[in-house]
Amino acid sequence: MVRAATVLPHEALPVPAEALARLDALAEGLDAAALWWLSGYAAGLARGRGSAAAPEARPAVAAATPPLTVLYGSQTGNAKRIAEALAGRLEAAGQAVRLIRADAYPHRELAQERQLVIVISTQGDGDPPEDARGFVEFLLGRRAPKLPQLRFAVLGLGDSSYPKFCAIGRQLDERLAELGASRWLPRADADVDIERVAGPWTESLEQLARDSTPARPPLATVTPLRSAAPTAGTRERPLEAELLGNQRITGRGSDRDIRHLELAVPGLAYEPGDALGIWPRNPADTVAALLAALRLPGEAEVSVAGPRTTLAEALLARVEITRLSRSFLVAHAERAGDTGLTALLAEEQRESLAARLSQWQLIDLVLAHPAPWRAEELITALRPLQPRLYSIASSRLAVGDEAHLCVAHVAWQQDGQPRWGAASHHLAGLAEETKLPVFLERNPRFRLPTDPARDLVMIGPGTGVAPFRGFLQQRIAEGARGRHWLFFGNPHSRSDFLYQLEWQQAHRAGHLQRIDLAFSRDQARKVYVQHRLLERADELLAWLDGGAHLYVCGDANRMARDVHAALIEVLARRHGGDAERATEALSALQAEGRYQRDVY
Ligand code: NAP
Repeated sequence: MVRAATVLPHEALPVPAEALARLDALAEGLDAAALWWLSGYAAGLARGRGSAAAPEARPAVAAATPPLTVLYGSQTGNAKRIAEALAGRLEAAGQAVRLIRADAYPHRELAQERQLVIVISTQGDGDPPEDARGFVEFLLGRRAPKLPQLRFAVLGLGDSSYPKFCAIGRQLDERLAELGASRWLPRADADVDIERVAGPWTESLEQLARDSTPARPPLATVTPLRSAAPTAGTRERPLEAELLGNQRITGRGSDRDIRHLELAVPGLAYEPGDALGIWPRNPADTVAALLAALRLPGEAEVSVAGPRTTLAEALLARVEITRLSRSFLVAHAERAGDTGLTALLAEEQRESLAARLSQWQLIDLVLAHPAPWRAEELITALRPLQPRLYSIASSRLAVGDEAHLCVAHVAWQQDGQPRWGAASHHLAGLAEETKLPVFLERNPRFRLPTDPARDLVMIGPGTGVAPFRGFLQQRIAEGARGRHWLFFGNPHSRSDFLYQLEWQQAHRAGHLQRIDLAFSRDQARKVYVQHRLLERADELLAWLDGGAHLYVCGDANRMARDVHAALIEVLARRHGGDAERATEALSALQAEGRYQRDVY
């Protein structure tokens, strides 16, 4: 948590208690970037009112140390969380820290920067997170300045099941060095069990920060304004949410099992665009198959990765078994003494390895390449179970203390055996009234416009439609004057038209002015949402001219890329067919916050 004020007796503070309470209320719900912005805003006001010197009650940050910027690029909130914690620790080490999201960072300031710490994730195919696209493009591009005055450190986050593991962190680290900056700390690449690498890296950086700060009294006086008790509904302190409803919303003929779930989440102050984190349990059938294949007893005791428990329970709730990592494969290949498997780990096999990792679960590896494991060693070698995030498909203004989700039950056959995704299978099998641990993952870069008169264009095929149900509920409840246009697609209209009745009702009531549908398999030729965008180009341009905000949610790898390309094609019509100018226009919309994407 970012520090906000010093702990002094109230009478010693320059702000009356009542104003402090108002400030506290104002800060509620703002993310760290917004709070830092507010602090700068307040400093600007103070300067404008003629107070040159900051008051004594200000946190005693070492004046001799140049300020330090902690910049983050985060897709699912992990990099943000790590950056926030890091900023807090560097501040406690005596540094004047500015914590900033990459898309809020003014590029022109880079040339003046003296200390820069970057925490950034890499998405599946080696892409930057959505909020860091501009920054990454700038830094890797020709316009980046020489940086001989800068010392820097980069922490990359990623998933080693992908071939371009932590590629963005690596590129930024190399580029900063190439621009003449010096490394404060060698780069580290954290896998999905982030803490294993991020913990020691953060500690080293904190120590370096301490060492480079002139001696001064410790900053023990700096604490948060609000009470220190963490609120329920966080990743570390999840909320026990009761399942109120679990309904399949695809029809009988559909090959997709998509669920609408309703959860009671009292007090969870989410906003449209936010996601709900779920701590899943792995499929019981997969655990049973694993124990049989490994010839290990489920009741064997293990004491790693948490308090003592049984092997079966650890496989169910503590480690990843539905996603394989490269590091586990290395350990397994050594035990199996299998040359075929070892050959797959060679650098030139990266693509085939990635393909294997994307299809195989632990059980498939163990069946194809048997190897001896002891219970504790197995649990240690596997990665800790990670929560899964789902876009919230409701607005609190419409559903009160509930959160709704739209979840595709991930299931397929591998060599004739059923395989499932961990969280979606867990959710699909839950009976009403069951409780499950959930938390709120804020998503401040996917937000409704503050101006209720703005029009919205929402592009969300498949379960990507989820946040738009929440957007529309919110705008109706607020009586927003702006218009709404939805582009939705799925395989078949008869069985896969998610929330069909609700969209039709909203259309009839005049809340959803336009809906364009792309049912991909209802005809011989595939029709996708981007085809509809191109067909409606003129009208879309007219909406954009009127200030409409564009939103895209869903699959990142294929859909979001193709939709992006289609949007450029649409905009090119405004620019005499010039794709370069159209690309610039789309980037400008993005920079204005009028083109927001939530894709993975
Ligand atoms: P899906 O696989 O995305 O399919 C939905 C529709 O999109 C189908 O009609 C499909 O057609 C079509 N499609 C396939 N390729 C396309 C392309 N290149 N361009 C446009 N449309 C294309 O649906 P889903 O199973 O519900 O999966 C949704 C995806 O969105 C998942 O990857 C999920 O993880 C992601 N998602 C992300 C968020 C988020 O980031 N917040 C939220 C929800 C969902 P065919 O299958 O007939 O080719």
